[in-house]
Amino acid sequence: MLASSVPFCAQRSLPFLGELTREPVPRSTNRTVIQLRRKPREVSILAELSRLMAAAAGEIIRHQESPRFLSWMQREAPVRFPKFFDQAGDGRARRAMATSLGLALWNATPLPDNGYQPAPLPTPEAQDPCPCESAEPYASCCGQFAAFPGFEAEQMWLYVVEELSDEQLWQVGRAGVLPPDELEGAARRLIKGGSPRRALRLLAPLFSDPEGLTAEHEPLLGPLLQAFGAIESGMPGVALERLSATLKAPLSGALEMRRAAYLADAGQWEQAWSCLGRAQCEDSQRAPLPAVEVFLLLREGHTARAALRARFWLAQRRRSEPAGGSAIGVFLQQVAADPQATRAAYVHAGEPQPCQDFLAAMLRLD
Ligand SMILES: [Zn+2]
Repeated sequence: MLASSVPFCAQRSLPFLGELTREPVPRSTNRTVIQLRRKPREVSILAELSRLMAAAAGEIIRHQESPRFLSWMQREAPVRFPKFFDQAGDGRARRAMATSLGLALWNATPLPDNGYQPAPLPTPEAQDPCPCESAEPYASCCGQFAAFPGFEAEQMWLYVVEELSDEQLWQVGRAGVLPPDELEGAARRLIKGGSPRRALRLLAPLFSDPEGLTAEHEPLLGPLLQAFGAIESGMPGVALERLSATLKAPLSGALEMRRAAYLADAGQWEQAWSCLGRAQCEDSQRAPLPAVEVFLLLREGHTARAALRARFWLAQRRRSEPAGGSAIGVFLQQVAADPQATRAAYVHAGEPQPCQDFLAAMLRLD
């Protein structure tokens, strides 16, 4: 029987799951927000898939044995991912779904014993014993059904970091196996899961050798400060002071800008302003530095001065980029026009928006 002639029970849902596999499931970026706007049924399929991926990453990392993992999938996947498996017409289709999904997960999962690279299995030949352990040839067993679309290693990393030991996290950070944007996603996931110290294990090797760091490492400063902040009860302290002294431009300016936001939130205005001053010395127009300066002035209650500085920065920006319709430009225009109203707009239920959140939003938007 040809694969295409078999009415795969889940054929209708496969394209949808294929779409899922192209996106990280779920992670703490804008993409999560997009996913959460899906229809409720799709969200619960996503949640189930995400839980299965987390459990699969644990099983793979613990043993790093593909036959053992594929057999685990036969037992566990239908139980953990019923929204998908309940669409199977019969037991044979369920086996095939578990095999195919298992191969897709295994092939994308980085293995510590393989230098943190995935070790994809070759597609079984027609006469090979089926990986589902039915003792039938692959072609007349799971090979009859459409293959599950692949996952990306980037997606599996988010689950894998949660399974690695502290020592392994350090190795991953030191070996530079993850590009900065994936490292950022992994570190944020650890922090979100309540493990800021483990996030630091992952990030520290890079920052302990700042010579090799470039502008492309800047997004890592976000989770780095977040982790320090979570550990030092909201205040990045001596370690950041030292780091700041060792980093070079443009990273040092980027770090000072973020420290300014943290210190302002902690009410340490004098230090916050000196950090912001150092960031401005390096590159006064760095986005979103002008907006952060104006926001800090608003938060501290200097509304008239905030409006003055907003007008100054708008004039500067007009000279360099006449179009100026960015989020930063819009914020500066609002403050220049009506600083009191803008200040009020950033207060919700009596609580002003934290400077760190404002900075994070501006970094994402601009
Ligand atoms: Zn099979």
